[in-house]
Amino acid sequence: MADSILVLNAGSSSIKFSLFVERGGGLDVGLHGQVEGLYASPRFIAKDASGSTVGEKSWSEGAQFDHERALDYLFGFIRGELSGFRLAGIGHRVVHGGLEYTRPVRVDAGVLARLDKFVPLAPLHQPHNLTPIRLLLARQPGVPQVACFDTSFHRTNPEISQRFAIPEELHDAGVRRYGFHGLSYEYIASVLPTFDAKAAAGKTVALHLGNGASMCAIEAGKSVASTMGFTALEGLPMGTRSGAIDPGVLLYLMDERKMDARAIEDLLYHQSGLLGMSGVSSDMRKLLDSDDPRARLAVDVYLYRIRRELGSLAAALGGMDALVFTAGIGENSVEIRDRACRDAAWLGVKLDAAANGRGGPRISTADSRVSAWVIPTNEELMIARHTRRVLDPNGIRESPIREGFPSAAL
Ligand code: ADP
Repeated sequence: MADSILVLNAGSSSIKFSLFVERGGGLDVGLHGQVEGLYASPRFIAKDASGSTVGEKSWSEGAQFDHERALDYLFGFIRGELSGFRLAGIGHRVVHGGLEYTRPVRVDAGVLARLDKFVPLAPLHQPHNLTPIRLLLARQPGVPQVACFDTSFHRTNPEISQRFAIPEELHDAGVRRYGFHGLSYEYIASVLPTFDAKAAAGKTVALHLGNGASMCAIEAGKSVASTMGFTALEGLPMGTRSGAIDPGVLLYLMDERKMDARAIEDLLYHQSGLLGMSGVSSDMRKLLDSDDPRARLAVDVYLYRIRRELGSLAAALGGMDALVFTAGIGENSVEIRDRACRDAAWLGVKLDAAANGRGGPRISTADSRVSAWVIPTNEELMIARHTRRVLDPNGIRESPIREGFPSAAL
């Protein structure tokens, strides 16, 4: 019986899932979908690899519908779909692995207790990531679970790039730059050799531009710097997050506006970024389609900050061989890529506008000193691969990487 691996990504109001199946030595995505609208208007949808809907349901009980109910339903559904496959393990996306977890880990009660200690470092994400692990440890103890962290890929950052200029005692207590979106960057680093072997061995800046947005400097496959820091608030402006902001602004908001930590958290995580600047939307598509001058300003600021961070990461790398765009905006927005590449001309990027219009994968001209690429990310496949490796440490089934999503093909 062939193995399957379930990948779960649990947030405050949704649980996303992907079910991978072993086929011909590789991992193919079988089903994917989500239960969303937890505690409000819960809805379930599952699609097969071709995008056809294979399951759909909604519930009316709203506020009572919690993560446990969602997991119960999800498990029942998946068990029903698993004929011919054995559930070999479950891989979870977990935002924070602290300094301790430099790679994915099989979770038992002891590991879970250590992951709980990172909740103060990522209070909006970590508790929700851990909820299904806790429930499944209790209810499905026979199914191995593996936690894969958004921070792990950045643990190769030199000490100097992790340091804030604050007293040592705070640094030692964990107030330092961790970096996030690591599973996405790790995936990009893992497939880059098939696109551009020279860049993969050299210096690359990858741009993960989704609702959350960050950039990462990668040298010979390893992260050396990231725009995200202690939290996933740092760096680029995002859909609703501010990105970098003078810390003096926070003092001002406390003193003059009498805002407390929760009010500032709401402002910086949920009311800022593209939404805050435009007053229109957090959705890049809507901003690009809008005639509202504030929407145009939001896009201009977004690109300006990408340009500034690119200079910073290229400086951290001491040069650049390639630029890679990924995630919702990076994979789909011709205009954002066009403008970001033109802004990077001084670094040696020559845009091939027609190739960019077609979506790549290569969007720089043949004579461009720095190559530019569109590479769809696949964090779920990265988690599935990690889970398989952790559960199969002798590598008996370890096999050449094969992509699960057709969109990731060259
Ligand atoms: P998440 O970080 O939630 O996974 P995604 O990676 O799906 O988000 O990215 C969502 C963002 O991608 C949204 O701002 C959306 O507007 C943007 N996006 C998706 N398609 C396009 C497109 N064709 N043009 C511009 N932006 C797009």
